[in-house]
Amino acid sequence: MSYAQKVIEDLKQRYAHETVFLQAVQEVLSTLQPALDKDAKYEKNKILERIVEPERIISFRVEWVDDKGEIQINRGYRVQYNSAIGPYKGGLRFHPSVNLGVLKFLGFEQIFKNSLTGLAIGGAKGGSDFDPKGKSENEVMRFCQAFMTELYRHIGATIDVPAGDIGVGGREVGYMYGMYKRLTKSYEGVLTGKNLLFGGSLARTEATGYGAVYFAQNMLEDRGETLEGKKCAVSGAGNVATYCCEKLYHVGATPVTVSDSRGMIHDDKGINVEVLKQVKEVERASLTRYAELVPGATYTPVSAYPQGRNAVWSVPCFAAFPCATQNELNLADAETLLKNGCKCVSEGANMPSTLDATNAFLKAGVAYGPAKAANAGGVATSQLEMQQNAGMQSWTFETVDGKLKDIMGNIFRNASETAKEFGQPGNLVLGANIAGFRKVADAMIAQGVL
Ligand code: NDP
Repeated sequence: MSYAQKVIEDLKQRYAHETVFLQAVQEVLSTLQPALDKDAKYEKNKILERIVEPERIISFRVEWVDDKGEIQINRGYRVQYNSAIGPYKGGLRFHPSVNLGVLKFLGFEQIFKNSLTGLAIGGAKGGSDFDPKGKSENEVMRFCQAFMTELYRHIGATIDVPAGDIGVGGREVGYMYGMYKRLTKSYEGVLTGKNLLFGGSLARTEATGYGAVYFAQNMLEDRGETLEGKKCAVSGAGNVATYCCEKLYHVGATPVTVSDSRGMIHDDKGINVEVLKQVKEVERASLTRYAELVPGATYTPVSAYPQGRNAVWSVPCFAAFPCATQNELNLADAETLLKNGCKCVSEGANMPSTLDATNAFLKAGVAYGPAKAANAGGVATSQLEMQQNAGMQSWTFETVDGKLKDIMGNIFRNASETAKEFGQPGNLVLGANIAGFRKVADAMIAQGVL
């Protein structure tokens, strides 16, 4: 049994119930063996056994009072996974499905993604099983404040800098930032994704979605193809999906779908991004509202989806941008996309494709940008926000967007060159994993056994 496989088997025994975490570890470790074979130092230093364990897990109770005067209790977490190459960095997710296994999967992915950006940032993730949906503005504020009354002890501008993720956008970041400031008397860049009024960066809101499109452009250019004039399927209707749609129009493509947890919109004429922003960012409503506002758009509820399948992926497209959540695209979806002529998949969400769907894309040889490369634009721009805060500066939109574009190009080249180095040209899963891994592993070795 290979070194990587031995570590995977051991983890399966230890963390049998943390299924998405095990999936993420398997996806990374199963591609690292060529790098482990090439240099014995990784096994000698037990790097895999060390890198799969978080440096620290903080778990705490969050108590708050709802509008009816009733006490509510949620669970809060911060997984500080790896700080070998920089302070911990990674988002906060507020969603009822959040548990430690989910946050370990996201934190583990974050280590390699952050390394790939070429910036000095370690990996972390956090969040709570709090559901912001259906809560009043005051309830969201009280929850965010309660969450921060514990988290503030563990974070700091050079220690750990959280950001948003599912259920955490500018509003939640603002409430948490306010409480951090009150508790610590410190006005510092401790969170990213902040409002422009108090240290936020232009282009941070757009960065993950824009970055996923820049990554697709890089992959396609390398193959002599382009997104121009092409139909694209996008899933999700949140931050990443919205700005992915917006950037697709900028490059001459047409996004024809978006989705949320209740259903999907399909419109061959193209998604109306302004209406989408109004429905999701302002009204915080379901996509049924979008269908009311845009004649000609069709709404399909989840209950009408084909068994166990996401209807978004049955819409014929040249490129697919999964931007909702983990495991939203399975093998049957991948096969449907390929049958319908899909030539490019760029992942805006974290681990949206199941392992067998990923393998189907690799086998078919389409341009496939795995999440930790394709969606790294968000965290990279968060790091640009940290740079601006540290230097007390505010860069223009064009400056930040230009840097984002360069970073996405560098990530593509790094993953692509690494894939070639290990004899698997075009396999950006292997390329991204090995490139991200080597930098962190070498830093861990240089810093000794801690
Ligand atoms: P948002 O909360 O803004 O939007 C999430 C979207 O996905 C919503 O439309 C939501 O629908 C939908 N969704 C969530 N869970 C499910 C589910 N179980 N089934 C179907 N649809 C679902 O989050 P983001 O756009 O920020 O994040 C989307 C993905 O991108 C996540 O995987 C996140 O980890 C990843 N990501 C985000 C980054 C960022 O900068 N924001 C950076 C890098 C990665 P509904 O509203 O109905 O729940």
